[in-house]
Amino acid sequence: MKNKVLIYGSIALDSIETPVGSREEILGGSASYACLSASFFVPSQAVSVIGKDFPPEHTRLLEEHNVDLHLVEVKEGKTFRWKGRYGQNPNQRETIFTQQNVLENYLPHLSPEGQEARYVFLANNSPSSQKFLLEQVKKPSLVAWDTMNLWIDNFPEAIIDILPGVDIALFNDSEIQEFTKNTNLLEAGKQILSSGVKKGVVIKKGEHGALLLTPSFTFSVPAFPVERVIDPTGAGDSFAGGLVGFLTKEDKVNEETLKKATVYGSIIASFAVEGFGVERIAELSKTEIDERYQQLKEMTQF
Ligand code: AMP
Repeated sequence: MKNKVLIYGSIALDSIETPVGSREEILGGSASYACLSASFFVPSQAVSVIGKDFPPEHTRLLEEHNVDLHLVEVKEGKTFRWKGRYGQNPNQRETIFTQQNVLENYLPHLSPEGQEARYVFLANNSPSSQKFLLEQVKKPSLVAWDTMNLWIDNFPEAIIDILPGVDIALFNDSEIQEFTKNTNLLEAGKQILSSGVKKGVVIKKGEHGALLLTPSFTFSVPAFPVERVIDPTGAGDSFAGGLVGFLTKEDKVNEETLKKATVYGSIIASFAVEGFGVERIAELSKTEIDERYQQLKEMTQF
């Protein structure tokens, strides 16, 4: 049977303003981006919560991309909503509002099948609920984990608490600097490794690529140069989804697979920013991904 990746995160209705244009209440959320991005490699099992108002066309789109929604609870009430605005610098965004709605006080419960998951991605969500989910997984082979500034600012202790259960931690450059109180990314990454993260730390640097630090090697990948950034939302979640999707498909975690997974993550993120919301990754083909993978290889050889 093909491996599946279990992805816990938000499923949202996002409103977005960028210098190029705006969209209201489109499909978003860390789990949506990550599941769609993982789907180029393996099917995924989403764990999340939505309200009764969640549009059926979004459910269809996720299902058409091999996202199993059986562990997505449908609750009385409104779906999580988020609104963000970007200026000319795509790395800087302003959150206009976050409406937790059904996500407030939600705790994920796994089915017996979900408890047997081997590949797990804890996408951006409250760290205490991430821990609650992780404790239900009996024997994971790989746990990848992501967070955001909201949790770093408000619940740093909960993050410290979860890190020893994590194999691969993903941070933005500004997030890891804030969390470790260290502006040097190499030192900050090492601090995370020494806090119990077992296999690696990925530091995403937006248009400047990403760094992978592990106890035995360091790897740097550039961002694929994109001519027109339409909407940076979800780039991090797409990066992570591609990375865990690839590792799940390979079913082994070593230097070679970790490096390739980081490159795939970077490539899928480069597509994610080329459209509003999940627009671009939802119509992307594996051939396009492989072409960019090859182009990046040629661009970086000397
Ligand atoms: P990224 O651009 O990769 O940081 O992810 C953007 C996504 O994160 C959006 O689709 C939002 O719906 C989602 N998001 C924003 N704030 C939160 C939050 N507090 N909890 C869970 N998901 C969130």
